[in-house]
Amino acid sequence: MNPKIYLSSPHMGGNEQTYVNEAFSTNWVAPLGPNVNGFEKDLEHYLGENSRVAALSSGTAALHLALIILGVERDDEVICQSMTFSATANPIVYLGATPVFVDSEPDTWNMSPDHLEEAIKDRISKGKKPKAIIAVHLYGMPFKVDEIIAISKKYEIPLVEDSAEALGSTYNNKKCGTFGDISILSFNGNKIITTSGGGALVSKDDAIKEKAIFLSTQARDKAPHYQHSHIGYNYRLSNICAGIGRGQMEVLDHHVALRRKMNLFYKDLFQDWEEVSVFSEPAENMYSNHWLSCITVDETAHGLSSEKIRVTLEEDNIESRPLWKPMHLQPIFENAPYYGTIISENLFKKGLCLPSGSNLNPMELKRISSKIAQMQ
Ligand SMILES: *Cc1c(COP(=O)(O)O)cnc(C)c1O
Repeated sequence: MNPKIYLSSPHMGGNEQTYVNEAFSTNWVAPLGPNVNGFEKDLEHYLGENSRVAALSSGTAALHLALIILGVERDDEVICQSMTFSATANPIVYLGATPVFVDSEPDTWNMSPDHLEEAIKDRISKGKKPKAIIAVHLYGMPFKVDEIIAISKKYEIPLVEDSAEALGSTYNNKKCGTFGDISILSFNGNKIITTSGGGALVSKDDAIKEKAIFLSTQARDKAPHYQHSHIGYNYRLSNICAGIGRGQMEVLDHHVALRRKMNLFYKDLFQDWEEVSVFSEPAENMYSNHWLSCITVDETAHGLSSEKIRVTLEEDNIESRPLWKPMHLQPIFENAPYYGTIISENLFKKGLCLPSGSNLNPMELKRISSKIAQMQ
């Protein structure tokens, strides 16, 4: 059996260990220290737009704190893009609130502005104004930022931007991760850069950054003893992990360029396949990091399907995976309200994510292309 080709695996740049060794030699082996502060500075500089960043233990933790800071409480409703990874929706439930799911639109695969507005109007007419909107840049593709922000402003409902998959993507030449009232990033092992596990909460407000750090370090009031007037969490990023992050920031732009090259590789590979489309930017003002390259496959008379491609690749130990299964179709969320049609459901049926790492070598690309060619 050939060694496994992963969808997306960690890709170290080279300097990560220097920062980690520094943490050891100075004994900053703790969830605070120079790497944590340095990593936050690096991210603030990279994102621009006066971003203020709190480094946390995961993207999920960042979403949880974002909702707390926006005042989401038990029995509130939060609007959430249905087609996403479950980590986007779970923190709503941690708080005892209800997710209200919204369908995708076909261009970006992300939250449909029309169905978002329909959902808001209907929830208000039923007596409850949603407390927040969570929109996601799936696979690095920006959502329709201008349209979604306009609706968020019109109804005065704050926007949480889930940019876990979109560090390095831009919309109107501004970085994804800077558009939400609060935005979040993830540095899990499979993301565009990794700290092994980690995340960040981004805002433009010093007070929000302070609040996130306060809540993530057990909500200790200013006193010599341990004094608490809030419930706290243990969500701060470790100084060891932050060291990996500092090294990764040095290669982020290069890794984005390599992921985008993978997208071109698939465009080239599938150019003669009428039934296959490679997901790419629908508009000039969008620039995707192409965290994962995805295709949709129209089923044909001769039996091609996304599942057939998946199984064929698996024969040579090549990983591929269906798109995120929409949350409104998940057993755990079957009673949650949903607004939309069958756009995300159809994408789920037709779509496939392909190996997209910035570290795939020519031999591995050859294995992928020969397996695909074998099917034509
Ligand atoms: C990965 C991911 C998250 C969660 O991030 P973790 O760091 O794994 O907790 C949230 N939302 C989306 C869309 C993701 O892809």
